[in-house]
Amino acid sequence: MIKENLEQINLDIPKHVTLVAVSKTKPHSMVLEAYEAGQRVFGENKAQAIEERFAHFNNHPDIEWHFIGHLQRNKVKQIISGVSFIHSIDSERLLLEVNKRAEQANRVVSCLLQFHIAKEDTKFGFSLEEATEMINRQPIDSLPNVKICGVMGMATFTENEAVIRSEFQSLRAIFEELKQTVFAEKEYFKHVSMGMSNDFKIAIEEGSTMVRIGSSIFGSRS
Ligand SMILES: *Cc1c(COP(=O)(O)O)cnc(C)c1O
Repeated sequence: MIKENLEQINLDIPKHVTLVAVSKTKPHSMVLEAYEAGQRVFGENKAQAIEERFAHFNNHPDIEWHFIGHLQRNKVKQIISGVSFIHSIDSERLLLEVNKRAEQANRVVSCLLQFHIAKEDTKFGFSLEEATEMINRQPIDSLPNVKICGVMGMATFTENEAVIRSEFQSLRAIFEELKQTVFAEKEYFKHVSMGMSNDFKIAIEEGSTMVRIGSSIFGSRS
């Protein structure tokens, strides 16, 4: 089923958009099945879970592991050596910690700044003002071990398409603003991570370059 699901989803994803297969809570065997169907980029939202994947898939160096959930600073150290991309930088202290641990591991880690675009107040993330202030305090060139490649956000959990669309438009606008200001001339600042199983088509229409899809590939989670 996973292979068929991936084939179906890939029909709806243009070439320039990266599919992050969100395997959280699912067994390693399902990750392997997706891998054998050609999928190489996977997302996890818990430090312990992603560490278990690193160990289990140690002999699959072509897998890219993306961290997509809220990351506590005291967990950065344990994931830094295996993670390719952190989508969820939601505070200055976390960004500094990732830079520090990446330096110790002799790596440069790709990151996205997470923005709060939803109505719900449970979701983490910056406002445009907060992110701009942070970059003014911590100029990007002063953090050589993180590469801030763009922005990430989650829409409100709702059936209302107009709400979802307008939130994705607001994230795209934040991206464009940052790209013209604090990230001017940073050609690697090019990603907008938005869209999940239920809203990825809208997200792509509104300029997503990375979609994070779990249940439509692996089935619903209990
Ligand atoms: C779980 C999760 C997803 C995937 O959600 P689905 O609805 O299963 O596609 C995407 N992004 C984040 C941050 C998640 O935690």
